[in-house]
Amino acid sequence: MAQSVSRFDVLGTERVHERARVRTCFGSVRVTGQVTGFVRRLPSGEVIGRHALDLPERALTTRAVWWTVDPDVLTAAGVAAADVPGALHAAEHAAIGMLPLVATSDRWDVGGVSTALHPDTGLPTVMVFDGYPGGAGFAERAFDAFEEWVGATRDAVLGCGCATGCPACVQSPKCGNGNEPLDKAGAVVVLELALATAG
Ligand SMILES: [Zn+2]
Ligand SMILES: [Zn+2]
Repeated sequence: MAQSVSRFDVLGTERVHERARVRTCFGSVRVTGQVTGFVRRLPSGEVIGRHALDLPERALTTRAVWWTVDPDVLTAAGVAAADVPGALHAAEHAAIGMLPLVATSDRWDVGGVSTALHPDTGLPTVMVFDGYPGGAGFAERAFDAFEEWVGATRDAVLGCGCATGCPACVQSPKCGNGNEPLDKAGAVVVLELALATAG
């Protein structure tokens, strides 16, 4: 199972939609990723070995949709500061999983990065990017169909019968962090805030 780190830089914001509790943006980003190593796990999940790799960074300049939320709004909605990274990460995975509903993509055409404090936005940020140089239209479609996309994502996570997250809702087979951390309940709050239409 490969482990990687990803971050993104906002190169230019082309479109902005101010919503009641979040700001959504579409624009140009540079995603930088580096495979840092891999872990060997037993089918039970137990880690039996870690191997560091020294590979060069890879950068992709593409287009992305991202949304930001004020940390005070997250706190007021019941997401403790310690749970914010897992809530954003789980929302990111679930949103990527539901993107094919509004764009003719599949999970492997797009990627995501989430962070509790993004250096460019200064805020907790969830970002989903086209996996092709220059962009392929998936992220812009997601920006245009944001309510439908995020609404379906919220419904899928809420409607999933698992207790703390599973591959049908918030776990991703391509996660570079081994699906850690993930907070399913927090993800529902993050998605609800993105959909909120009033105060
Ligand atoms: Zn589930
Ligand atoms: Zn992940």
